[in-house]
Amino acid sequence: MHSHDTSTEVLTQAVLRYAVDRIRMDPPPLDGPRSATELAAMAGRTVTARGIGGLEALRVFGDVLAPACISADHPRFLSFVPTAPTEAAVLFDLVVGASSIYGGSWLEGGGAVFAENEALRYIADLAGMPDSAGGVFVTGGTAGNLSALIAARHRWRMRAGGRHDRTRALIIASKGAHSSIAAAGRAMDADVMSAAADEQGRLTPAGLRALVDGLSADDRERVIAIVATSGTTNAGVIDPLEAAADVADELGAWFHVDGAYGGAGLAAPSVRARYAGIERCDSFIVDPHKWLFAPYDACALLYRDPMQARSAHTQHAEYLDVLHTDDEWNPSDFAHHLTRRVRGLPFWFSLATYGTDAYRDAVEQTLTVTREGARLIDDADHLELIMEPELSIVLFKRNGWTMPEYQQWSDRLLADGDAFVVPTSWAGETVLRICIVNPRTTLDDVRMLIDALA
Ligand SMILES: *Cc1c(COP(=O)(O)O)cnc(C)c1O
Repeated sequence: MHSHDTSTEVLTQAVLRYAVDRIRMDPPPLDGPRSATELAAMAGRTVTARGIGGLEALRVFGDVLAPACISADHPRFLSFVPTAPTEAAVLFDLVVGASSIYGGSWLEGGGAVFAENEALRYIADLAGMPDSAGGVFVTGGTAGNLSALIAARHRWRMRAGGRHDRTRALIIASKGAHSSIAAAGRAMDADVMSAAADEQGRLTPAGLRALVDGLSADDRERVIAIVATSGTTNAGVIDPLEAAADVADELGAWFHVDGAYGGAGLAAPSVRARYAGIERCDSFIVDPHKWLFAPYDACALLYRDPMQARSAHTQHAEYLDVLHTDDEWNPSDFAHHLTRRVRGLPFWFSLATYGTDAYRDAVEQTLTVTREGARLIDDADHLELIMEPELSIVLFKRNGWTMPEYQQWSDRLLADGDAFVVPTSWAGETVLRICIVNPRTTLDDVRMLIDALA
């Protein structure tokens, strides 16, 4: 295709310059949303029969569209789960984009898949999974949880030898489980039951026991998986993994651990002991795009016995049969997908570049800022700390405020480009929540928030 620009070299320089400048911004502008009507007026028509030219499209992106997206790597983007990719990871994302690697099969992408598997091994080792463990990078925790639970159901059906081919499956999770577990249940047309949690949202062994003891004999047969969360998204608390694994063993059910956000804490010696029991999982997920300094979108999905997953997920078609030799590792076979980007490569490149010690230190650094930040919040007269952070999420209240005051405060902070902190709810009350996964977030950033709340 012909470009309107006189020289593709000019466009190349402009695009690469833009990317490198964006990567180096420290901090990037926080920016904020605009309505579709505003954007239409500001951007004009961009998709036209003759094209507007690359330089003009880049200008529209840089001047109009990018500023209408909040920079999730800004050190005071503290809502939801932020992202904080390393420079090496983002640079390598450009290389992945340039390389047209089909990441679904060893035949086509073996070199890249080898590197992705090295990165997966790093995570499997953090979790203490056996040498046989393996898996694949999928888009996110939602896709990872679904694929793991499909594998769990497959093993359950295979073991039942036909008895459960039409039985509706039952998944047991906890009240604090992420919404993607319920979404997986809906997608699979499976039931999801929630065991009681403590007031911090952590599954309780007694609650799990009570739920299981209350099941009818038929329902016990329907349990395909126990799902525990290693780092709940709202409060950052870790379920008691040993107790959950015991119950899974007792039921002969699959044990899945959702560490999409919190699994990264495995790299930090100061909290590693809280994950005891994770090594017993049948599957585990962690999103490197959350707290392991990789760009969107990447979820590491690991299985204790990848062959179970392979038999659940492999797609068969005439044109694919050439790929199915038993000794080749085809990433397509381990999740609900086929074509895939080698999205684990930016994470691998970053690990290879900086080394795993740097990862340990970076995760510890965010935990230190979280703990010290929680102390400052606890000491502030106008604020109330709701609980001691277990990982890197702090929940707290501004004394005397209700929803409208929180919302106005939050809107103003974003409009001024200062911070992105949205109100959330906790035990039926409006509260504030900050999640620190960015090593560039400092105690001064937390101080700024505390002052802004005075
Ligand atoms: C974020 C999160 C998910 C979903 O991950 P996505 O990458 O957003 O799909 C699932 N589980 C937990 C515990 C999470 O924090």
